[in-house]
Amino acid sequence: MTATVTKTDTYDTIVVGGGPNGLICAAYLAKAGARVLLVERRHETGGGLNTDEYYGFRLNLHAIYHMMSDVMPAYGDLALPEFGLRYVYPHVACAFPFEDGKALCFTKDLDETVASIATISDHDADCFRRMWGEFQPMLDQYIIPLTYQLPLPVVDQVVEIGQTEIGERLNEISELSPVEVIDEYGFTDPRVRMALLSFSAMWGFHLEDPLGYLYPVYLCRMIEAGLVKGGSHRLSSALYRVLVSNGGEVLDDSEVTRIHLDGGRAVAVEVADGHRFEASTIASTLNPEQTFLQLVGAENLSNDLRHAVEPWEWEERTLFGLHLGIEGEVTSRHPEPRVNEAMITFLGLETEDDLHEHLERVDAGTAGGDEWLHLTVPSHHDRTMAPAGHELVRAEQVVLYDEGWDSGTQAFGDQALELIRRHVDLGRIVLRREYPPTHIEAKLRTMKRGSIKHGSYTNLQMGFNRPNDLCSQVATPIPGLFTCGASNYAGGMIIGGPGYLGAKVVGESLGLELPGGSAE
Ligand SMILES: Cc1cc2nc3c(=O)[nH]c(=O)nc-3n(C[C@H](O)[C@H](O)[C@H](O)COP(=O)(O)OP(=O)(O)OC[C@H]3O[C@@H](n4cnc5c(N)ncnc54)[C@H](O)[C@@H]3O)c2cc1C
Repeated sequence: MTATVTKTDTYDTIVVGGGPNGLICAAYLAKAGARVLLVERRHETGGGLNTDEYYGFRLNLHAIYHMMSDVMPAYGDLALPEFGLRYVYPHVACAFPFEDGKALCFTKDLDETVASIATISDHDADCFRRMWGEFQPMLDQYIIPLTYQLPLPVVDQVVEIGQTEIGERLNEISELSPVEVIDEYGFTDPRVRMALLSFSAMWGFHLEDPLGYLYPVYLCRMIEAGLVKGGSHRLSSALYRVLVSNGGEVLDDSEVTRIHLDGGRAVAVEVADGHRFEASTIASTLNPEQTFLQLVGAENLSNDLRHAVEPWEWEERTLFGLHLGIEGEVTSRHPEPRVNEAMITFLGLETEDDLHEHLERVDAGTAGGDEWLHLTVPSHHDRTMAPAGHELVRAEQVVLYDEGWDSGTQAFGDQALELIRRHVDLGRIVLRREYPPTHIEAKLRTMKRGSIKHGSYTNLQMGFNRPNDLCSQVATPIPGLFTCGASNYAGGMIIGGPGYLGAKVVGESLGLELPGGSAE
């Protein structure tokens, strides 16, 4: 989708990178009246929202579960449903089938979830109700609103949140690792604990490291998550339409190779074919290594900025995907019927110890593809995801990045398939596509080493420190240059936070007011 651009023109804003955050930033600014150019390296916008179509099978190779779909400001402010966006919300969000015929089902009905846990442990069912009861006000009053507000310095944020009882409780939880959170609420059953830890582990988080206020997000919002009807790319298409219908321009197939400074101010971007586009403001959604070290150039950074940017840490764990097009049906063999209805089914592990041991093998590089994966059958929830008479299967698992992936991919995929076949009846496989971490970074340069979130969530890279204390307010020490991708606060995933904050701050610098303001 390339809109016409006048190649010598000057813009109010050039947005670098057309993933969800770049599109949100550009769409808001265009709607607010700015003259916007969005520049994307690939042949299409979307970034982590890409959906590749193979003769009628729609493969979400990256993001599929949208945790903040109904609460991200862009949804309402930009009237995305009017531009074609529809979500489906499977009632059974996550299922954990066990070998003895029992299953844990986390559904959108709290009582049903509690009853499911009670089939395994009455005690843990009570713990879950208590935990859920605390997490909901934490999310509603603090976590969700804060996702769309600029971060305060750590101490100020703790003081601000700690003004209320539930805020104080959130501060306590934020100090804990996922394992400590479930200890805190008193869970004892090894299967329930495994399930509750899987919500964090599936994204590569280390279960013994504090996760800030993200544990409640990755549990509760995953249970509330939706799938985009027609594939995740439909969200980027809706944002694209908002952008161009408000006069914004898109230049795809154009890698930004340079951000030019003049007198210390960012004034222009240069793309691979040598064209230069000038703007009053430049908003980069690329990772800090790209934006500062490569595009601006390490030699043009102040010492402070260079020292803030250079130590950027990448996640150790990433994801391996296996996508299957099936002629005929895909049916879980488990006696609990809700397993077959689930948006995500976790296969392969029974207890908390199994999970810890598996993750140790992942980190040692010795885990097999047949140990643990989570499975989604998108076509069970949305018939448009596969041709008539066919189903689409998507399996994903946590792995380490390794340059050797290219040779080991098929064997690992075979093992994953073996694990799936142990639990699920599959018709004839007519399409098979492995998606190892090396393919992730080859497709999206922002996702170095198969990074899910443009950089790990350590204390030094979260909140006010994301990407560093000089740039977390979106404006950077370089006048005219702003950053607002997943490596900025509030981080990765399809949450729409960085792009929204990017638009807000860039808009203010241009004297524009954003449409909606639903996050205020
Ligand atoms: C395998 C995988 C599965 C995931 N699943 C989920 C999920 O289910 N749910 C979820 O919420 N999140 C998921 N994520 C995370 C999510 O995809 C990302 O956090 C999100 O896409 C980040 O958005 P962004 O706009 O900041 O960056 P990106 O999506 O990375 O977009 C950046 C854009 O910049 C472009 N670009 C790069 N370099 C240049 C350049 N030099 N010039 C111009 N353009 C450039 C890229 O091509 C890309 O389009 C997943 C990630 C991975 C890797």
